[in-house]
Amino acid sequence: MDAASWFFNGDPDNERTVGWWCPTRACPSISNSRGMCKSCIREHRASGLDRETFLDTHVPEERKYAPGRHQARCLVERDGRRCTHGKYCRRLCLTHYRAWCTSGSPEVEVWARTGPVPLTDTLPACAIARCEQERSGLKTLCSYHVAKHRRDAPNEPVEEWASRQTPFLRAHQFSLVPFQPVMRWEMLYALQQRDARGGKIDPTLVRMLSGLVGDRPHLLDADRSELMALAHTKTCAGASAHINEIYRVVHVGHEEMRGIKPTDKLVWHLPSIKAPSRKSKTGRARSTHGELDFTAITQPWLRDLTLEWARNIDPSLEVLRDTFRVAVLVVAAP
Ligand SMILES: [Zn+2]
Ligand SMILES: [Zn+2]
Ligand SMILES: [Zn+2]
Repeated sequence: MDAASWFFNGDPDNERTVGWWCPTRACPSISNSRGMCKSCIREHRASGLDRETFLDTHVPEERKYAPGRHQARCLVERDGRRCTHGKYCRRLCLTHYRAWCTSGSPEVEVWARTGPVPLTDTLPACAIARCEQERSGLKTLCSYHVAKHRRDAPNEPVEEWASRQTPFLRAHQFSLVPFQPVMRWEMLYALQQRDARGGKIDPTLVRMLSGLVGDRPHLLDADRSELMALAHTKTCAGASAHINEIYRVVHVGHEEMRGIKPTDKLVWHLPSIKAPSRKSKTGRARSTHGELDFTAITQPWLRDLTLEWARNIDPSLEVLRDTFRVAVLVVAAP
């Protein structure tokens, strides 16, 4: 994670990142599921080869792994050296297009090989952080971002629009830039907590979340059921579980910051209280769900007593559950 640009570059070799190399030996694609990338699946079908042979021998054509990166070069060439700038108009770069116009617009193909000297410098990069692709013509953006701006927000000034944009993201990458400023920190905190408990980081899901809740100011004020309803509009497996966890983690973190412990409340969220456990390596239980609602002990003094005991003794999950059950039974007994 690069904190300065809110950019996460997952490592497909790390089993805790959801992202895998395409198994085709010569293919540099990374996809969000195991197995071949989409292009290889298509090309495998068309090839008629058996899977093993295909994986070993297939060499994919140059594809748009990052749009704009394989931008067509300017036509100008001299002694086998091609102009390094991207094409702008009439297959010439901006500089050479202007030169071509002032020399009276001769036949382009001939002029490009006989007239001008090829440029050798590289153009400045796109204004979007980490995009790193060359600028398109007179624009401050690369051709991918120029097209995206034209499509998504043609009336918004480029500088404003650019502050919320990410570079073209591949399967193993995400950026927190599309989230509102406070929400970026909330997401970062939640993802760090998830990583700390050994959970996987799924870039595809985070990218989906940015589309889903990216326009909200922050999570603390958001309505949980409304968020869950939003998550259910996505067919993506794990969306609701992810949103649920992020929402909870941010709230627990906020309460801890204000000095409220998860055990101060009447309803204990079991993953948050981290009860001691002899079975776990860390010595703390790693349950991922479940609640104990102490209001089920309707007798107030017994409820307070049970809560006091649980807070002071810090019992294991089994002992805590048994005691809770007994307390509920005692009250319910005639
Ligand atoms: Zn592939
Ligand atoms: Zn040129
Ligand atoms: Zn760009």
